[in-house]
Amino acid sequence: MTIAAADVERIFRDAGALREGHFILASGRHSPLYLEKFQVLQHPAETERLCAAIAALAGSLEVETVAGPTTGGIILAHEVARQLGVRAVYAERREGAPGREFRRGFALTRGERVLVVDDIMTTGGSVQETIEAVRAAGGTVVGASVLVDRSGGSARLDVPLHALWGLDIPTYPVAECPLCAKGVPAMHPGTTPAPVSVSR
Ligand SMILES: [Zn+2]
Repeated sequence: MTIAAADVERIFRDAGALREGHFILASGRHSPLYLEKFQVLQHPAETERLCAAIAALAGSLEVETVAGPTTGGIILAHEVARQLGVRAVYAERREGAPGREFRRGFALTRGERVLVVDDIMTTGGSVQETIEAVRAAGGTVVGASVLVDRSGGSARLDVPLHALWGLDIPTYPVAECPLCAKGVPAMHPGTTPAPVSVSR
């Protein structure tokens, strides 16, 4: 089952996943808009629907395993794999070195056909690192799918990419950030604790 980009946007908006402000992204770049994907991924029904669109696109790729980068990619890889009836693995950041690797005993056979999935693609870094980890483990990457490509098409991978929703949201290096220039405090969105509700 495919899904229209407008429906993906509606799912993100309805879940409260679109936030405006001054954010420090995982890439280190700053942006006036942040997509808190876990506001969507906390809902299994919406996650299942989004992953069904990825699974439908992957139907002809003879996928044997689905791989994603931590953290959201774990959930997406697992759900897409469940729908395809295959296995899911995830790649973690290396400690003290660039790139990602498979741990937890995850192994690939030589030439194993792997689909790489992720939630939000900003620079393509995490997805490309997962692609490299698959290759380092002996697998063959047959494609990549993400829920949202927010790079405006500027993020490049060396495999075919499909995004359910494409967005062009500006991101800036700190030195060129207009919000920094105005003195607006920047925040790390993903690490901010949720509001605490006090019950009596
Ligand atoms: Zn800034």
